Amino acid sequence: MKVYEKAPAKINLLLDVMRKRDDGFHEVEMIMTMVDLADRLEMEELPRDTIIISSQAGYIPLDEKNLAFQAAKLIKDRYDVSRGVYIHLDKKIPVAAGLAGGSSDAAAALRGLNRLWELGISEDELCTLGAELGSDVPFCVTGGTAIARGRGEKLEPIGNPPQCWVVLAKPPINVSTADVYGKFRASELKHHPSTPAMLSAIERGSFADVCANLGNVLETVTLHAYPEVLQLKDIMYRLGADGVLMSGSGPTVFGLVGKEAKVSRIYNGLRGFCKEVYVVRMLT
Ligand code: ATP
Repeated sequence: MKVYEKAPAKINLLLDVMRKRDDGFHEVEMIMTMVDLADRLEMEELPRDTIIISSQAGYIPLDEKNLAFQAAKLIKDRYDVSRGVYIHLDKKIPVAAGLAGGSSDAAAALRGLNRLWELGISEDELCTLGAELGSDVPFCVTGGTAIARGRGEKLEPIGNPPQCWVVLAKPPINVSTADVYGKFRASELKHHPSTPAMLSAIERGSFADVCANLGNVLETVTLHAYPEVLQLKDIMYRLGADGVLMSGSGPTVFGLVGKEAKVSRIYNGLRGFCKEVYVVRMLT
């Protein structure tokens, strides 16, 4: 038997960090939504008690370091599953990009293996398992649009933002999330984005106010370390995007665009600057 799952990329419309906790994690407040740039997982049962991962992408680990492998191992151990699985990852989401590609693969593996092995695990329990794999995994299990607190695992679903075009551009650098958080100093922040203002904008369906209230405090670290990300933001603004923000710890920058007529100009303009540019829709 085979099952398939899509693993969409996430973007942060807002990412605020309150403080570093005693356990080493950061206390965050994030508003996240999914876009229709997605990896695809094919999961096939194996008669042997083993986990095998393959992918066309040569640049990700295919062993126990792969987050989909870790998800399969966790669910097997926790639910005493003695059957094996072959997981093929068709990677479309750029890696180490701030788009939670690995976390979304892990979440898709949890959802898919729950079906493949008919375990009947609730979504809440899948989220709890996911939190053991990474802070973004619980959100990737549920999808939709949500506000995430704690270290990212405390989720509250909210309504979807107004539909628009999303242009994603990833400069040719890989950014480590751990490094960015390591360099981040909450006490030095002069400005926090307003979560209530963003929630209100989403609730009212005001595209202009969503754009006006985009905010990500990790930009203070990544834009300083990688001036090309700042440059990319400027270019996206100048090309006419209505709102521009770095996603997660970067380096991907996304632009929200209300009018379809502007999209190709922005896409073509960005392609002169970086190779990885995607035009997608929000998954609403
Ligand atoms: P986040 O936004 O959650 O911090 P990211 O988009 O910045 O994630 P990922 O693409 O998830 O970063 O990759 C982070 C690291 O995880 C990379 O170094 C990569 O080698 C490793 N990794 C493990 N499993 C996967 C996977 N299935 N897909 C992509 N990367 C993976």
